[in-house]
Amino acid sequence: MVFFAGKSNPLYYQFEPLLSYPEIRHGIFTRNSGHSPHPFHSLNISFGLGDDPRNVLKNRQIVSDSMGGRNPVFLDQMHGTDVFVADGNNRLSGSLKPEVPKADAAITDVKGNMLVVQVADCQPIFLYDPARKVVAGVHSGWRGSINNIIEKTIRVMKTRFECDPKRLIACIGPSLGPCCAEFIHYRTEIPEKYWAYKDRSNRIDFWSISRDQLLDAGISASHIHVSGICTHCRTDLFFSYRSEKRTGRFASAIGLTNEQETEA
Ligand SMILES: [Zn+2]
Repeated sequence: MVFFAGKSNPLYYQFEPLLSYPEIRHGIFTRNSGHSPHPFHSLNISFGLGDDPRNVLKNRQIVSDSMGGRNPVFLDQMHGTDVFVADGNNRLSGSLKPEVPKADAAITDVKGNMLVVQVADCQPIFLYDPARKVVAGVHSGWRGSINNIIEKTIRVMKTRFECDPKRLIACIGPSLGPCCAEFIHYRTEIPEKYWAYKDRSNRIDFWSISRDQLLDAGISASHIHVSGICTHCRTDLFFSYRSEKRTGRFASAIGLTNEQETEA
């Protein structure tokens, strides 16, 4: 089990393989310990779902504070494949309000930036290059999967930051598992090349699709870590759009620590 829980009832979970890099900080936040009432109970970090924006701001503050108050970027996700690059020339406001880049993946090499992906069944994916010290956060739902946002993000990491895929570490967070990803309209929704990932009950293994996309992009098998937690099965811990329909989104955050924190 690579998915690491430090406490019995943690605010967030972590991937054990990432803990050996003190220069990064990350967390997969549960739905618990937030301010929002039913059906967004309680750590919902998304605006526009019907939750009180004041609760969302307070919840985003919890995420930001527990990640060390670093400059957060909450992506305005579109189920597309646009990749936002937050480098030294593209500074972020650090606002918790919804004036954020429209993109489904973000990459940064700037210390203090904290990339936050919002999900409820879609995959939150972290990528880290320990040599170039570059992190990425990816939101890959089924549309992101079939359009291979993973490959596109890694391509940008290569061209913009000279990241070598062989060095990259990839972690796939809690999301809709092969146990629950039934697609009865798969013939019209899912390209035929992905039908091999479907079982007899029309359930599609998107974790395996992502793993294969990561391998195809050049990442080593030993550098790919899957939490193995299905959001649909674990609505006690995480939001699940399929299970609950009207619900919140939980936070998956990754960033580079500030200089003084690394020294401390
Ligand atoms: Zn499941």
